[in-house]
Amino acid sequence: MRLDIVTRDAHTISRRQISENALKVLYRLSKSGYKAYLVGGGVRDILLGMEPKDFDVVTNATPEEIKKLFRNSRLVGRRFRLAHIVFGRDVIEVATFRGHHGETDEKISKSNAEGRLLRDNVYGEIDEDAERRDFTINALYYDISDYSIRSYGGGISDLDARTIRLIGDPETRYREDPVRMLRAVRFATKLDMQIESKTAAPIKELAPLLKDIPAARMYEEVLKLFFAGKAQANYEMMRDLGLFQPLFPQISAQIKEQPNGYTAKMLNAVMSNTDLRVSQDKPVTPAFFYAALLWYPLKQRADDIALESGLSHYDAHVAAMGDVMEQQCRTISIPRRFSTPAKDIWQLQLRLERSQGTRAFKLLEHPKFRAAYDLLLLRGEAEAGNIGKIAAWWQSFVEADEQQRSDIVKSSKKGPSRNRNAQQRKRRRPSKPKSESAGTTEKNSAPKAETKG
Ligand code: ATP
Ligand code: MG
Repeated sequence: MRLDIVTRDAHTISRRQISENALKVLYRLSKSGYKAYLVGGGVRDILLGMEPKDFDVVTNATPEEIKKLFRNSRLVGRRFRLAHIVFGRDVIEVATFRGHHGETDEKISKSNAEGRLLRDNVYGEIDEDAERRDFTINALYYDISDYSIRSYGGGISDLDARTIRLIGDPETRYREDPVRMLRAVRFATKLDMQIESKTAAPIKELAPLLKDIPAARMYEEVLKLFFAGKAQANYEMMRDLGLFQPLFPQISAQIKEQPNGYTAKMLNAVMSNTDLRVSQDKPVTPAFFYAALLWYPLKQRADDIALESGLSHYDAHVAAMGDVMEQQCRTISIPRRFSTPAKDIWQLQLRLERSQGTRAFKLLEHPKFRAAYDLLLLRGEAEAGNIGKIAAWWQSFVEADEQQRSDIVKSSKKGPSRNRNAQQRKRRRPSKPKSESAGTTEKNSAPKAETKG
């Protein structure tokens, strides 16, 4: 592979741009006789005039040797074994040069029938390591011993030309690790670059391979795609390349059916809202994100359940919550600390829809009120109609002061809109005692009776 060496006087990276902790790690390794380089995003982003998100270090020391050198380190990872050097909240990732997969022990290197690497712990030299990296713009090594940059596969010139180019044969590299397809998209939008044509070509056909990626890893990748200020752009490019469908099958099915339907509108609204919040340094939470994204699949599932089983609107809604979340978690494992509040947000939608009275005051105090209200507003925008009116009512209520709120409630005694008939309302509350209704996990089990507002 082509190698360019850029000496210290011919590039713009200075040690001032590298975090103190990363420098400490680099110097300690180097002084102990090992090779040590800053690699990947840390080098790439500084060269582009951006601030790196984190600093990754690579060395010829083995994980065990690294562990001996740093008391504040721990070894992590199975697929890629590496060391984390911990400085309070800051973690510097230190990897050992990867080598080629020859005839080696299964314990060290392993791949599945599709060519996906399940284990990749063969150690080698820097040039082999470079071949195992994903894109040329990530195969940049800043050498702490002489402050030069080693650029493999034309990384520096691709950086100048703003090109995302996979190292090696694209199809083989995607099969080894399908997540690289998502990384291509993420870097293209983050760095405002083009995916080179040979690198882009196999993606549509290979996109379904994403289904086999462990759901826990996918959760992390999705965070990086949608919570870093480029959600809208990533969403659009993923749709174009067929990468969205394998991750969000329930949502994609609805959008396919109705390209301009509520689901499509909701997706656009959530993505652009998330980007806006990130740009304003406001917090974003996976609980709201997934609740909003999956709202219409949830509605559809609830309707289906109600039709099949004759359950009430409310009971079907609760049963559908478990179904829809569980299905989503097969591709993206959403941690419980987010899926539980997402369900709260879902459940609150029903209460918001019929609490335009004194109960509204009580709802305001619910810990998830704000998120639920935000979702109601998005639904109002997507649907207009009845939900639009309810959302408008809530908006005037939320934005009013104490006195005005009482007036609003008085003047809308019966609420502006109730679209369910009396019988559904009657069936909503099962007459069973609470203790009995909370037991089983079957989808048709009776849900907990909703607390009265
Ligand atoms: P950022 O940290 O901004 O997301 P990055 O390029 O530093 O970007 P990391 O995920 O931190 O990305 O990975 C560090 C480096 O490890 C990458 O630059 C790349 O060289 C290599 N790498 C990461 N993931 C893969 C992968 N799936 N296949 C091959 N190489 C990878
Ligand atoms: Mg990084």
